[in-house]
Amino acid sequence: MEESKQLFQKLKIHSLLDLALIIPSSYNDTTLSILLELGKLNTLEAKVLNSSIYRGKLRITFNLSESNRQLSSTFFKTTPYHHKLFEVGSNHVIQGRLEEYKGYLQMSQPRSIKEVGKITPKYKTVIKDSEIASLIECYVTERNLFNEGLDSKEVATLLRVHFPKNIEDVYLNGAFKEETVNVLKFVEAFNHLKKLRGKRADFPALRALNGDEKSFIKHLPFVLTQEQQKVIAQIKIDLASEEKATKRMVVGDVGSGKTVVILASVMMAYPHKSILMAPTSLLALQLYEEANKYLPKEVKIALVMQGRDKGDYTQADFVIGTHALIYKEDLPQASLVMVDEQHRFGTKQRQSLEALVSKDERKPHFIQFSATPIPRTQAMMESELLDVSLITTTPFEREVLTKTIGKQDFPHLLKHIEDEIAQQHQVLIIYPLVEESEEVPYQSLKESREFWEKKFKNVYVTHGKDKHKEEVLLEFRKKGNILLATTVVEVGISLPKLTLIVIVGAERLGLATLHQLRGRVGRNGLKSWCYLYSNSVKNFRLERFTQTTNGFDIAKLDLKFRDSGDILDGTIQSGQKFKWLDMGEDEEVVAVAKSRLNSIT
Ligand code: ADP
Ligand code: MG
Repeated sequence: MEESKQLFQKLKIHSLLDLALIIPSSYNDTTLSILLELGKLNTLEAKVLNSSIYRGKLRITFNLSESNRQLSSTFFKTTPYHHKLFEVGSNHVIQGRLEEYKGYLQMSQPRSIKEVGKITPKYKTVIKDSEIASLIECYVTERNLFNEGLDSKEVATLLRVHFPKNIEDVYLNGAFKEETVNVLKFVEAFNHLKKLRGKRADFPALRALNGDEKSFIKHLPFVLTQEQQKVIAQIKIDLASEEKATKRMVVGDVGSGKTVVILASVMMAYPHKSILMAPTSLLALQLYEEANKYLPKEVKIALVMQGRDKGDYTQADFVIGTHALIYKEDLPQASLVMVDEQHRFGTKQRQSLEALVSKDERKPHFIQFSATPIPRTQAMMESELLDVSLITTTPFEREVLTKTIGKQDFPHLLKHIEDEIAQQHQVLIIYPLVEESEEVPYQSLKESREFWEKKFKNVYVTHGKDKHKEEVLLEFRKKGNILLATTVVEVGISLPKLTLIVIVGAERLGLATLHQLRGRVGRNGLKSWCYLYSNSVKNFRLERFTQTTNGFDIAKLDLKFRDSGDILDGTIQSGQKFKWLDMGEDEEVVAVAKSRLNSIT
């Protein structure tokens, strides 16, 4: 027992299914071959007819008992042991790759098998195969697997994988059969969900919120999309609970209309207080403006930013702010706390916000909004820890034409930029770096600045570390033609006149980042363009990216290309790695695993 524990630690496994999911990387099968199969591993009964040495190599001719054909073998590395083993007249079961050369059967360097008719799994782990085999024999039993909640087909498959009677049942041409893989996917999803379940901690809410959002919605200048309505309805149910404080994450692409959902939530909380935290002061300011524009006059709104407060936050019904909120000691207790663009906060900031949310036994309702689309499978997994709503559509189809371009297209690009500026539209050019670097085969922001400034009027420049970023952006919004920036500059404000973006060295960026950047243009329904500038001729990943604008599809694509190795910006979230499960494709598997788990817990 104690011994097993140590081995489990070495293997870093925590559950029975973790152990069952340590799958053999291959098998050693000494079952006699029924037919001779060329090009494959054969296990054959053979008698030594002849033995000779030719140019230092041992040559043996066997007679195959079953087919009565002859087979010759060459041993390149021989020891006296080999000579003795393959004495003329001796009988063997030999194993090796069978080839045919000019009608003669050949098998180079065959092994002489001692124990015939045995299939031994080969596990590639940090411990010895014999150790892992005995752990598996001890714990991965029919009974234990049933107790984990698996059905008879899954149990049978796992047992066949670990204790195969006939290799073809599970394995075909060096790979697991599709039906085996499907079971492994399920078990993997099921095991992961099981671990997450029970980790969710819920607390009673400060109070049930039953405010009325209907009149607010009726007075909006547009009709809500189906998905906006659905999310609002979900939140309404959440907030009406006093027993359980809401914990929800609303994930919707840039431009999917999350702000209205935030404002509707404020109305549902009213006359009780709400707080909204935003990652930048620009965004906080923008939300403040939108709140003032859409919320009814009786809702008192305040803004909290370092040194630039607006309104009296101690009296307000709705307080919007940056993380400066965290340092306000006299911030009134809110019944609803929200975070916009949650994905842009650091872990530390999120933690201090948690503190803001969880002062007492009773907690405010808590809703986070994120613009980083995740595959539905991942959302289903994460919903074990908190409720997740997805908004996968945008209110109006944005027309953004995406194209990959290279050096030869530059004159055309210049012409296009001139055309857009002539129509009072704005252009954003993203450079990979501020300063030049030997590692990056593209111009930097500094190097190219002069070119643009000579050619165009009202060129603005900013980047992530720029102290005056906000002023530059605000001024650019008012009167700029071209904005030069780096990827780090997350443009927090909407720039409605932006219709053309050029991303230099696009192949260096993850699809999620490219998608965020592309989301900057065409926000007001103006026809827009996204040019992916790259030195490399053809990039399949970028080509695929040009074909879709849906963030949820892109999240799937991103998973597909995750191993392709050309992603340098590190924006890809280190999600749970699965060996069998494909988070982009296996939605159904996760759904089935989830409902199984629901049925047994
Ligand atoms: P997000 O925060 O999800 O990126 P916003 O809430 O800023 O998106 O919405 C983007 C734009 O779409 C805003 O100008 C908003 O007023 C508008 N909008 C939101 N919902 C709708 C709708 N149902 N119909 C039309 N326009 C909408
Ligand atoms: Mg938003």
